[in-house]
Amino acid sequence: MDLTNARSMELFRKLGIADSSRTKGENGGLKGAVIAQGEVDTWIVHLLLPLDIDHTTIDSNEAVCSVLGGVYARYEIQIDERLVRSTYRPNLAVARSYSGPKRHIFLAGDSARQKIAFGGYGINMGIGDAFDIGWKLAAVIKGYGKQGLLASYQQERRPVALLSVERSGVHLNVHMSLSEIIDGAAKDIDSASEKGEQLRARIHDHYQLHDNENKDLGIEMGYRYKSNIVFPESSGTEPEFDPTRFVPTTWPGWRALHVFLSDGSALSSHFGSGFSLVEFSDGTDRGAELLVEKA
Ligand SMILES: Cc1cc2nc3c(=O)[nH]c(=O)nc-3n(C[C@H](O)[C@H](O)[C@H](O)COP(=O)(O)OP(=O)(O)OC[C@H]3O[C@@H](n4cnc5c(N)ncnc54)[C@H](O)[C@@H]3O)c2cc1C
Repeated sequence: MDLTNARSMELFRKLGIADSSRTKGENGGLKGAVIAQGEVDTWIVHLLLPLDIDHTTIDSNEAVCSVLGGVYARYEIQIDERLVRSTYRPNLAVARSYSGPKRHIFLAGDSARQKIAFGGYGINMGIGDAFDIGWKLAAVIKGYGKQGLLASYQQERRPVALLSVERSGVHLNVHMSLSEIIDGAAKDIDSASEKGEQLRARIHDHYQLHDNENKDLGIEMGYRYKSNIVFPESSGTEPEFDPTRFVPTTWPGWRALHVFLSDGSALSSHFGSGFSLVEFSDGTDRGAELLVEKA
């Protein structure tokens, strides 16, 4: 992919608002994307390139005009300032192991897994990795955690990576599969004819049916950990995981529940800077005892 990050007041005036859009090539397949940054005059423009092309032969003005032109010829636009020019390859990859055999080195973020930008999972997942390995390393270095704690890092974070990497590929396919709907008749999208209307309706239906790219709350917030430091409930049924839905639960391994207490404060505002024991009392007040037993 070719990437140009640039300022252009002309583009801002023509789009009217700082907008984002994806453009199609002549065969109806994804050609590129124009994504607004900072809501005024700055955009990132992505152009899909075939694998065998030498990207140094493509000028960034050419790349921007080509993406803006979409199914038509290049669309001239004045670029006021080019901020960044780069290329990247969208990969779907997850490391087999998140650490060396002696656990002296750990992988986190994009070094552990890479995904396609669709869905926007990269940074959140990287922060999640850093948070997970961070407190465990601190515990082992300070002496209140054992080596087994470090093993739980991969057990917890790798399944999350597999899930989001796979899902980002699903989101990309939603755009790529549009070429089957458009079936070579991309210019009909602008046509006032009945054929044009039908094509627009099919595209609309396609995106209404496959709108998870910005809605997969289960992938972003609903995942749960299963590891050697998470002890399952001895009874009850684990709520089913759904990539599209956020299902709040106190099931072990799930993120701390967000609820407002009877005094109006959020539960999370009572968490301390270290560990917090939250007891959903069944009247037995055995929370601390159970914790010590498991430890
Ligand atoms: C076009 C594009 C759009 C994206 N959009 C989104 C989005 O909307 N939302 C989202 O959440 N994510 C998005 N991502 C993904 C996100 O950018 C990455 O997941 C995230 O930046 C990874 O962070 P990181 O710290 O793991 O790795 P990086 O950001 O790659 O940081 C690694 C750093 O290490 C440095 N480095 C490498 N080797 C060495 C060395 N030997 N010594 C010292 N330093 C070194 C590198 O220079 C770099 O600064 C996008 C990615 C791309 C390419």
